[in-house]
Amino acid sequence: EEVTPPPRQRLFKVVFVGDSGVGKSSFIHRFCNDQFNPTFSATIGVDFQVKSIVMEGQVIVLQLWDTAGQERFRSITKQYFRKADGVILMYDVTTEATFTNVRNWITSIQEGVEEGTALVLVGNKTDLIEEQDRRAVKVKDGNKLAAEYDASFFEVSAKSGTKVKECMESLARILKEKED
Ligand code: GDP
Ligand code: MG
Repeated sequence: EEVTPPPRQRLFKVVFVGDSGVGKSSFIHRFCNDQFNPTFSATIGVDFQVKSIVMEGQVIVLQLWDTAGQERFRSITKQYFRKADGVILMYDVTTEATFTNVRNWITSIQEGVEEGTALVLVGNKTDLIEEQDRRAVKVKDGNKLAAEYDASFFEVSAKSGTKVKECMESLARILKEKED
């Protein structure tokens, strides 16, 4: 009698960074619960949320760490980055200052993570471009900066859900392939 082995399960730690207000907590909430709540704020005291996805017959468990209001430059501790497999660095496509700050965030990330950690640059709030033409950061500039740091790049909307799943699945695939 044949017994199907249980799928291998793999856990990856993914940390979120980026200026306050860019939508990190909303993005995590969208990805984990498929919801957007404009008055939502991350629960204080919860370090991370967990979301499982199935990819090529394997269960991938993503442990998603939110900064929970410690976004002031350099207030993120090295402990936060410890053993991170991936980093999501987020800015707001409608607020140029959040993009300018990306380089500062990269400095903090580089001090905190081990070499080889996957980096994804994410521009959030694309719904505001479609509805109100409020783009302040060009796609081209996002792409260029990501390429400079060997990062993947996505523009997303936590509000509409556009590209949120694709972004996280792409990261999961990169992490999975690194370990295969
Ligand atoms: P955080 O400080 O990076 O965690 O950002 P939040 O998730 O708390 O979001 C900050 C503000 O931006 C809140 O008012 C959210 O409702 C809003 N927001 C987050 N994501 C989006 C988005 O994709 N589109 C729009 N229009 N607003 C968003
Ligand atoms: Mg937050």
